[in-house]
Amino acid sequence: MNEPVLVINCGSSSIKYALVPAAADQPRLTGLAERLGSGDARLKGVDSRGEAFTRDLGDAGHVEALAAILEGLEGRRPGAVGHRIVHGGEQFTRAALIDDEVVAAIEATSALAPLHNPANLQGVAATRALFAELPQVAVFDTAFHQSLPPRAYRYALPEALYREHGIRRYGFHGTSHAYVSARADALAGIEGGWLTAHLGNGCSTAAVWQGQSLDTSMGLTPLEGLVMGTRSGDVDPGLHAHLARELGWSLERINDVLNRGSGLLGLSGLSNDMRELEAAAEAGHAGAALAVEVFCSRIAKSLAALSCALPRLDGIVFTGGIGENSPRVREQVVALLPHFGLALDPEANRETIRGHEGRIDAPAPNRPALWVIPTDEEGRIADETRQLLGETAR
Ligand code: AMP
Repeated sequence: MNEPVLVINCGSSSIKYALVPAAADQPRLTGLAERLGSGDARLKGVDSRGEAFTRDLGDAGHVEALAAILEGLEGRRPGAVGHRIVHGGEQFTRAALIDDEVVAAIEATSALAPLHNPANLQGVAATRALFAELPQVAVFDTAFHQSLPPRAYRYALPEALYREHGIRRYGFHGTSHAYVSARADALAGIEGGWLTAHLGNGCSTAAVWQGQSLDTSMGLTPLEGLVMGTRSGDVDPGLHAHLARELGWSLERINDVLNRGSGLLGLSGLSNDMRELEAAAEAGHAGAALAVEVFCSRIAKSLAALSCALPRLDGIVFTGGIGENSPRVREQVVALLPHFGLALDPEANRETIRGHEGRIDAPAPNRPALWVIPTDEEGRIADETRQLLGETAR
């Protein structure tokens, strides 16, 4: 397929899109329709000359916003649509061509991702209504981690909870971990063992061996694991009962605090934005310094734990807004892993920011490498869409 793929990431009141051409050197058209259904909707994007634009969309909902997105594609027609779908449960181990059955299966997993899957499906319904003739593909955040062995995905809970209710670890950010580990393989010229650290507003780690995810830090929901912008990551499972019993907190309140009031924001009392925290820590703000320290320490612990899944460690890959742009976080994480025998190159670490891909260590035989690889979830979704359609056309 030579036409571009329209990649859609649909939230409850927003649609992020990218028109990804078949050739990597052609420009992408990207943008975001937001505040949908509020009466104050708008479309922000970047055109093929790299210039930003904003359009008021009034009381647009998802269908109207998609029509406006299509109009803004400068006459380019996509050949297919690739949808980011957060949760594919155990059923989807790879991308799937969307039909009524696939929609029903995504609906059936909505209990596991109540905030995300219904919103993703709104985008699917709107695009199917608008582009009935175009093939639509679902690319799942969880699919890459379906290769986890039972020892990594099972919780030590009664078996019936797994069998009857699907309570297990699924993992998320699969497209990002898949993309950066494949890129690390290509750059290193091996099918290697990588620890990948996706550090953005959401954060997760994965252990990838020869293209297969063997363990990851997120679990049943994207709350488990690392400290994130506003999410707590791991806490004692007894915390919920304690807060309910001692403080009288409702489940909704506990859930809200752990998802929206914790993480870097909760620890620092200042911000969920790493740039702000680094500046404040530099200026002597104790809460900000502690937040950065706990954040890095949890990453190092997670990487050390996940290394148990790998037959061999070829390197660590940093990605995501923080992983790609924060030399300080990368340096602190590496300093907490002295037994890995890593050798950070301070200058390369300082200089590898703002979308640059590169090694940030001094290469030596038998020493795990350190890579910064900007993630490309849209590109990966477009690739998986093309690949699936290529197979079904055969
Ligand atoms: P993402 O969710 O991948 O867009 O990442 C968002 C996070 O990246 C936020 O915490 C930002 O503060 C962080 N970030 C972006 N640029 C920088 C930077 N130059 N230094 C440190 N953190 C950054």
